[in-house]
Amino acid sequence: MSAQDTVLVVGAGPSGLSAAATIASMGTKAVIVEKEDILGGAPIISGYAKLVPSGEWAKDAIGRMVSRVERDGNVAIHKSTKVTMLEGEAGNFTATLSNGEKVEAGSIVLGTGFTHFDSINKPEWGFGTYEDVLTTTQLEQMVGTGQIRCPSDGRVPERIAILLCVGSRDRQIGREWCSKICCTVSINLAMEIKEISPSTDVFIYYMDIRTFGLYEEFYWKSQEEFKTKYIKARIAEVTRSPDGRLLVKGEDTLVKRPIVIPMDIVVHAIGMDPNVLNAEIAKTFGIDLEKHGFIDRAEQYTNSQGTTRKGIYVCGAATGPETIDDSITQGQSAGSRAVGDLYRQQEMVS
Ligand SMILES: Cc1cc2nc3c(=O)[nH]c(=O)nc-3n(C[C@H](O)[C@H](O)[C@H](O)COP(=O)(O)OP(=O)(O)OC[C@H]3O[C@@H](n4cnc5c(N)ncnc54)[C@H](O)[C@@H]3O)c2cc1C
Ligand code: SF4
Repeated sequence: MSAQDTVLVVGAGPSGLSAAATIASMGTKAVIVEKEDILGGAPIISGYAKLVPSGEWAKDAIGRMVSRVERDGNVAIHKSTKVTMLEGEAGNFTATLSNGEKVEAGSIVLGTGFTHFDSINKPEWGFGTYEDVLTTTQLEQMVGTGQIRCPSDGRVPERIAILLCVGSRDRQIGREWCSKICCTVSINLAMEIKEISPSTDVFIYYMDIRTFGLYEEFYWKSQEEFKTKYIKARIAEVTRSPDGRLLVKGEDTLVKRPIVIPMDIVVHAIGMDPNVLNAEIAKTFGIDLEKHGFIDRAEQYTNSQGTTRKGIYVCGAATGPETIDDSITQGQSAGSRAVGDLYRQQEMVS
């Protein structure tokens, strides 16, 4: 392998896997560096259930992406590894890895993704205090088991509340952005709950419903076929009633009245934060972050997968909240740009 025929891909979530497969399909070598000991990114690491919009289990859909790169002779994979130092410049980078190995690469793709919002930062909504207050990732894992039960005592819940926008659209805690996919994911989860546990009623507490584009059909289907109940509300707090159930207290913002409804499980629809490692990633790779802490793009329209450093590209949720489908498309685009750079370098050499 030489710098001129190799692209380094950092992160093996949907975006990085897509970039690596694209690079390899063009006859170029891709070297994947992933910090975890498994590939697949958030959908695999966090054990998502059925994905929107396909309805396919995450382990099957993303599993296919993982197998594709694992089988490809043009892809080398380093798991449980990070890049600790980067030297050189576009066309001739040398990356030192945490396992001591060095990788020479002509260009680089960052698919380093996001970090789930930590609900502990919203203590008034009960997470970390009550066992039956969960996050959407925990609910995804519960759906994956095929059983819906209260963690505290194993009973089948009569009512589940899903609170939207937890850690998104919240200036008080410095998260001004909308996480884009959590409305649709939550609505999909509400329908999955009803399929598994028909006696459970699901209530979605919302500020706005943002099932953008074609995802609007999830919103209608959930009401018409699955009888999901929607409450436009501002939540004040989640407490426990004397009988051990949870009380969701707030204001119904349509009728402007206080409401308190007993629930058996409360779910936080957590948002997508910038990767907690972004400051370290920015320093190692010599790139800039945008004002919220996501990786900045070179230029919105003419170089949308470029970072602020020549020869280093970015894709997926590393640049802001993103869907899997769009992360995959961006991975293809970043991979193509990275390979294009190698050809340009080769032309200059010959
Ligand atoms: C609860 C929940 C459910 C969701 N469900 C859906 C859904 O059904 N459909 C949908 O379209 N979207 C869904 N999403 C969004 C989805 O998770 C993202 O679109 C997707 O994970 C983005 O892929 P990515 O590859 O950009 O990032 P990630 O999935 O975050 O992958 C990034 C990878 O990079 C690795 N990494 C990070 N930093 C480093 C580093 N310094 N060095 C090496 N490796 C590193 C990570 O370990 C990880 O493997 C959901 C989001 C949430 C919060
Ligand atoms: S997608 Fe929906 S739940 Fe997620 S932050 Fe935006 S409005 Fe809130």
